[in-house]
Amino acid sequence: MGIANSVLEAVRTEMTRHPGTYPCKVGVRIGEMAAIDREALRFCFEAIIQETDLESLELEIEACPRRHRCQFCECDFVVRDYNARCPQCASLETTCISGDELELAYLEVEEYGASTVGAKSTQ
Ligand SMILES: [Zn+2]
Repeated sequence: MGIANSVLEAVRTEMTRHPGTYPCKVGVRIGEMAAIDREALRFCFEAIIQETDLESLELEIEACPRRHRCQFCECDFVVRDYNARCPQCASLETTCISGDELELAYLEVEEYGASTVGAKSTQ
């Protein structure tokens, strides 16, 4: 529930920068190490936006793989099967650079009334 709330808060903060528009779709990025149940998040999110002004907001969840960076050759790579060895120089001295994030990836907004412009002109 807490996570769904912070997503919603991030949307509301972002919306203050786009006056005259409403959000139609929000994308969040979740790192695979963040241990967040995507279905549970979707369920909570839909529950908290119900009967609010954001009821029609669609949530898109993007999974983010875990990435490491090699200390020696500085290459970035995606960790698969918990194998954190550098694919270039085979060093095991690698550090995690991403994979536990939870962030707003994008927000799609529409202008109020924009979708009714076509309908009006035919009347
Ligand atoms: Zn390396």
